[in-house]
Parts: sequence; C-alpha cells; structure tokens
Amino acid sequence: MSDCVKYLLDEQDLPRYWYNIAADLPQPLPAVLHPGTQQPIGPEDLAPLFPMAVIEQEVSTEREIEIPQPVRDLYRQWRPAPLYRARRLEQALDTPAHIYYKYEGVSPTGSHKPNTAVAQAFYAREEGVKRLTTETGAGQWGSSLALAGAFFDLDIEVFMVKVSFQQKPYRRAYMESFGAACIASPSELTQAGRSILAEHPDSTGSLGIAISEAVERAVQRDDTKYALGSVLNHVLLHQTVIGLETHKQMELAGEAPDILIGCTGGGSNFAGIAFPFIGAKLRGGSGPRIIAVEPSNCPTLTKGCYAYDFGDTAHLTPLVKMHTLGSTFVPPGFHAGGLRYHGMAPLISHLAQLGELEARSYGQLECFAAGIEFAKAEGILPAPEANHAVKAAIDEALYCREAGVQRTILFNLCGHGNFDMQAYQDYAAGNLQDQQYDEVELAMALSGLPSVA
Ligand SMILES: *Cc1c(COP(=O)(O)O)cnc(C)c1O
Repeated sequence: MSDCVKYLLDEQDLPRYWYNIAADLPQPLPAVLHPGTQQPIGPEDLAPLFPMAVIEQEVSTEREIEIPQPVRDLYRQWRPAPLYRARRLEQALDTPAHIYYKYEGVSPTGSHKPNTAVAQAFYAREEGVKRLTTETGAGQWGSSLALAGAFFDLDIEVFMVKVSFQQKPYRRAYMESFGAACIASPSELTQAGRSILAEHPDSTGSLGIAISEAVERAVQRDDTKYALGSVLNHVLLHQTVIGLETHKQMELAGEAPDILIGCTGGGSNFAGIAFPFIGAKLRGGSGPRIIAVEPSNCPTLTKGCYAYDFGDTAHLTPLVKMHTLGSTFVPPGFHAGGLRYHGMAPLISHLAQLGELEARSYGQLECFAAGIEFAKAEGILPAPEANHAVKAAIDEALYCREAGVQRTILFNLCGHGNFDMQAYQDYAAGNLQDQQYDEVELAMALSGLPSVA
C-alpha cells in the first residue's frame, strides 16, 4: 500500500481573484431575454432579484474579479482545499494512468457550494439586504446558504423540494440550526405554489417549482433578494477558486492533466474546476480533454435542446439560451438530487456548442458502484452527485489499462456523501433502479419550449 500523496497550498496561495471566462470567449454569450418582450434585458431588470454587485459580475467581461477580503477570510477556514493523487485507486485498478482529485468536501457543509454562498451573502449584506430566499433540491445549497446567512447576519428562507424535505429530515434540522427557515415546496406561501397544489395536491415538487416560489417571495419585498446556487455566470465565477488552486497544485505535482472531469447538475462545480484550464486553451495554450458527466435520467447536455428557455416552472425568470429538457420536465426521482435540474449553465452550454467540452451520461447504479470502489481505496465516500465524476475517471483509467497508454486524469470530488447515508443504504439493500425518464414527457416538455423570434 503506497503513501497518501497530497498537494497542499499555503494560505497566501489562496487566489485573490476569481477567473471570468467571459473575457476569453471567441464569441460572446447569447443575450438574456425579457420573458414578455423577448428583448435583451439590462441590469435594472435584474435589480429586484439580485444585489447590484452580483448583477455586475453576471454581465462582466473583465478577466479577473477581485475576491473581497471578508470572503477570502471565510474561505481560509477550508481553503486552499487539498489535491490528492489517488495512488491506492490506481493500484486497485492496475492502471498506468495517474489519477488526481481535488477535494471540496473539506468545506463546513461538505461540498463546493459555500464558495459562492459566502460571496453572495457578503454582497447582499453590503447592499443592506435583510433576507435572502432560495430553493434547494437535495439540501446542499440550502445548507450552504444557511451557513453563509449566519456569518453575515441575514435571514434565509429555503424552499426545499417536497420529496427531499420528506426524505431528508436531517437536512432541514441542519439549516434550522443555522437559523434558516426551511419550507416544503410547493407551499401555500406563494401564488406559484398554490396554483401547483390546486392542480396537483400530491405534487412532490421540483427544483423548477421551488425556484418559482423563491423568486416570487424575493420580488415581493424590498429588503429581500434571491440567491441561486448554480447555473448563473456569477455562481460559476465564484467557483473558479477551485480550478485556480488546482492549476497551482498540478504544477506542484509536476504534471498537467490530459483529461479533466466534473459532474454537472447546473454546472457550477464543473465550471469551477474546468474554466481556468479551458481559459488557458482559449488564450492559445494547450489544455486537457474536458468531460462533463451527467445522470442518464436527467441528460441535459447529451439529450436536451440548445434553446431559449425559462429557469423555472412558473416562468417568472428571464429567458436564457442553454441546453434544456424543457422547464416543465420533471426527472424521475434518483439519489443524486443535486443533478436533477432541467437546464445547464448558459456558459457551459455555449462552450459545448463551441466544441470546448464533451458530455456523457451514466445510470445511478454504475455510479454508486464506482463511488464505493473509490471509497474503499481512498477512504472518502463521495456524494452521490460526485460519483458521476468518479465513474468517468475510473472508466478513463481502465481505458488506459486496456490500451496500454499513460494519461493524467484529474477530477473534481465536489463533496462527500456523509449526509447521504439513505442513498447508500438503499443502494446496498438493492432498492435502487436505473429508472428511465419518460420519453413522452420529455418530448412534451421540449415541444413546450418558448418560441423566440
Ligand atoms: C449541488 C451539488 C452538485 C450539482 O451542482 P453543480 O452546480 O452542477 O455543481 C453536485 N455535487 C454536489 C456535491 C452538490 O452539492
């Protein structure tokens, strides 16, 4: 058994700037459109929803954006995060490949989400906001914003997808411990929630519905804004701290990745590790093959349309161009709750169109098997979402063995699975299936895409 190989950075190596890939795009992102007029929106249209500093980041094309000192000070609690070489996994797979993983499970909530939660809470606080509303699927994002709210003395209101609210009572207790309010969605608190309940009293909810409720609550009060945990440009920007650190750590290791892998729900952890590497390539350098991995029953990049769509079910959000399964699509229940979103980040969708990344999908059973194989070798049980990246990394390493080639594989281990024991228990008991999404429902959701002139 070989030693643990770990690459740590000093505190002074914690990045001072986030990296904004918009500065290096060969073609700009398609405009965000107003849902009524279908005209490009301006910052003032978003002002009821987000703090102005966040809106400026959303549309910025400056390459480097300074990380405010209070945010860096909070980052220092868990950052720089370690990069590991998975030597024991390499041995178990008997592969010539070198496998590295960046570990974001060292944050207080056990995932990458606090990287943007503390930044968003900071900007809200600076602008005198008293309350933030948000949605959460599996509970990771709600937990991270609850934590950030406690740091910056903000009231946090979390609409949690009802099926998760019922399945994961510990998540709610976690959020409430930090002083947040956690409401099962659809709820009676909003018009969006009430109209869904009137039609479907037994609705188990979806991220799209929970977003509608959180947005509706935010626009009703002047002291309240909305926070989103993925998808938007500013969220992806905040997560680039992951890839910026990893870039330095790979230099410490004396290697450059040939293959870079991340799992994609809305795309933020993937963008976080990948964008600094893609950016170097866009500026004329060389770079790794980039692989985005998604669940086969919510296959946004591999089966969705690249089209203008809403971010939510009640159609309160602006229209963004992205890979989408249709805003009314509700994926079957599966355990990587963080990956159950109908759309993909516009920046990632755009880069996929430009040929800068490839996408693939896996079923949940093969991902759990990969996660357990990883855990036995490396000692960390991954979050069910992260298992998708683990599975792709193992597949690439096995390919190296079969083909007799050496490759350096890097992936983002975006969170640990210590809050997801129900999922592992269900897997071990044989109670999980690879349930296919409903083709008819997907076709219907896609045919309902808004027509944009
Ligand atoms: C939320 C979450 C995801 C999915 O979100 P992205 O924005 O795609 O990163 C993936 N993994 C974990 C551990 C999460 O908490």
